[in-house]
Amino acid sequence: MSRVFNFSAGPAVLPEEVLKQAGEEILDWHGSGMSVMEMSHRGKEFISIAAQAEADLRSLMKIPANYKVLFLQGGATAQFAAVPMNLLRGKKKADYVNTGQWSKKAISEAKKYCEVNIAGTSQDANFTYAPSMDKLQLNKDAAYLHYTSNETIGGVEFNYLPDAGDVPLVCDMSSNILSRPIDVSRFGVIYAGAQKNIGPAGLAVVIVREDLMGDALPCVPTILDYKTQAENDSMYNTPPTYGMYIAGLVFQWLIKQGGLEAMEQKNIRKSKLLYDLIESSALYHSPVAAENRSRMNVPFTLKNPDLDEQFLKEAKGRRLLQLKGHRSVGGMRASIYNAMPEEGVKALCDFMKDFEARNK
Ligand code: PMP
Repeated sequence: MSRVFNFSAGPAVLPEEVLKQAGEEILDWHGSGMSVMEMSHRGKEFISIAAQAEADLRSLMKIPANYKVLFLQGGATAQFAAVPMNLLRGKKKADYVNTGQWSKKAISEAKKYCEVNIAGTSQDANFTYAPSMDKLQLNKDAAYLHYTSNETIGGVEFNYLPDAGDVPLVCDMSSNILSRPIDVSRFGVIYAGAQKNIGPAGLAVVIVREDLMGDALPCVPTILDYKTQAENDSMYNTPPTYGMYIAGLVFQWLIKQGGLEAMEQKNIRKSKLLYDLIESSALYHSPVAAENRSRMNVPFTLKNPDLDEQFLKEAKGRRLLQLKGHRSVGGMRASIYNAMPEEGVKALCDFMKDFEARNK
């Protein structure tokens, strides 16, 4: 067996310990004689797995008691629709910050249900920064303010929590959830697709303040109604059981690593290695404003794009994979989520330095 360093943006690398444990338990989970994949979601074994996963996530993120934690299907994209359907609550407008491609998708989905006010955008600079708080034009009649805390494609990360006063703050945290401590009590809803920092694709985690539930649009599909899902412990229909189990193992792994404070320090170290190298290089370039450079997704270009193919080929030869930038922007992107070990980032930096020395 030989594993590579996988810089994919998602589905992405998972902690090796988690994969090993899942492997050991694949045929017989804790003496049950069956795989978690084969268990009834209503049986006591799976109920205990789900309850432990929720308890561990609550302790990692210090989620206050007046928030529900939902494990849902449909990825983050289903939440682009679920958010307006659940949170408009009689209002007609919502504020959205537009920082790139994932914000845009959330906005175009929301427009099916309400009037969208663009409260801030970085379109003027091709989405290479996040607008500062004083630049946001908030609408006090908005049902909520939505933003994308980390743009996975652009590599733009907010370095502050927007303050919308009494208007609930909603965040698509798909690509930086669990990468640093955050104050959950500042949010109305946090949602995230799992396939970056949580577990396998097919699962979305939604953290929702209780008082915001129970007034969804009548047209809301039942599986996207937060209140129904909360009342049924995310089991109104069959939940993504295996994904929840792996997520639970990832949460235990994070606790063993020292929790989110320790992850944040590690993520600062890892991303700094790459950004320092890019800054001091004549070959590599980061398009993102220094204060908004993502700790999770590091896009960069080569001064001479004719070298892109060679770069990727040689990287593959060194077992550094999935470095090609998103098809819409080109260049390179190294995604360095929680589960990417520091050795992986160091190996990438060594390769990049060596490649530059040979391609001045
Ligand atoms: N939001 C962000 C920030 C993302 O990175 C992604 C996926 N890459 C999505 C939403 C969509 O997630 P999903 O594919 O799980 O629906």
